[in-house]
Amino acid sequence: MTQVVHTRDELAAALDKAPLDQAASGIAVVMTMGALHDGHRELIRVARQSSAFVVVTIFVNPLQFGPNEDFEKYPRTLAEDLEACRAEGAALVFAPSRDDVYPGGPPSITMNPGPLGAILDGASRPGHFAGMLTVVEKLLRLTRAEVAYFGEKDFQQLALISRMVVDLELGVRIVGVPTVREKDGLALSSRNRFLSPEERRSALALSRALREGAAHGDPEAVLAAAHKILSEEPGVRLDYLELTGPDLGAVPDDGPARLLVAAKVGTTRLIDNVPIALRKAV
Ligand code: AMP
Repeated sequence: MTQVVHTRDELAAALDKAPLDQAASGIAVVMTMGALHDGHRELIRVARQSSAFVVVTIFVNPLQFGPNEDFEKYPRTLAEDLEACRAEGAALVFAPSRDDVYPGGPPSITMNPGPLGAILDGASRPGHFAGMLTVVEKLLRLTRAEVAYFGEKDFQQLALISRMVVDLELGVRIVGVPTVREKDGLALSSRNRFLSPEERRSALALSRALREGAAHGDPEAVLAAAHKILSEEPGVRLDYLELTGPDLGAVPDDGPARLLVAAKVGTTRLIDNVPIALRKAV
């Protein structure tokens, strides 16, 4: 049985009553903005493997959207989302209103994402990561989470949250889950539903570029291969294509790295990334 609550008082009451043996195995949380797809469902499935009590939060956080971004038109599909949570065996769904999350109105004190939050998406979306970290920290506390699951799809977000729980000693374990893709490679995203059939075809260039890049071991060859694919697709307006270390730091000569891309297709902004194994030339 999946219980659904909408206010922080209802959430606290439900957590107080969480079966003790289940709570003993740890409360796990999966945070989402709704419009759930199989990527979200995979997070719930992975969480269920180690926790009997999985809380899913559904909240489109206004604080992490810029003034010209898609907060108003972001898809909201609560009835279907609750069905998905039930089907995956979530114990509890917390779907609060804006006023319940921010009872005092927009907060004047927010998280500072630091230097890691200033690069990549942080450079393109000022204020996004401060807003994201502020709500994540709140929801970790409100749900009393011991472990929280986040997708590698939003790799910089995962890196920042992992850093936040260490730096602020929040005592929560953060687990990353690999990106779920369509058969043709497109990373699942709630925003994919905005794409026309033609835009969807163009959007495939992102995952194709990452895949072609990942076939190389030399940093210059990785970037050249990926850039070539993207430049051949006129429907894609590139924001960034960057190769970094595995934690978004400097690119190593050899070993694990990450290739990340962000682009606009029509009016829809998409992001994707893959792990890369760099090999030093001999
Ligand atoms: P969102 O609802 O887009 O804020 O995403 C909620 C959570 O689902 C985040 O941890 C995302 O990284 C994760 N997520 C979104 N899309 C995918 C995907 N295709 N594969 C795996 N995780 C995902």
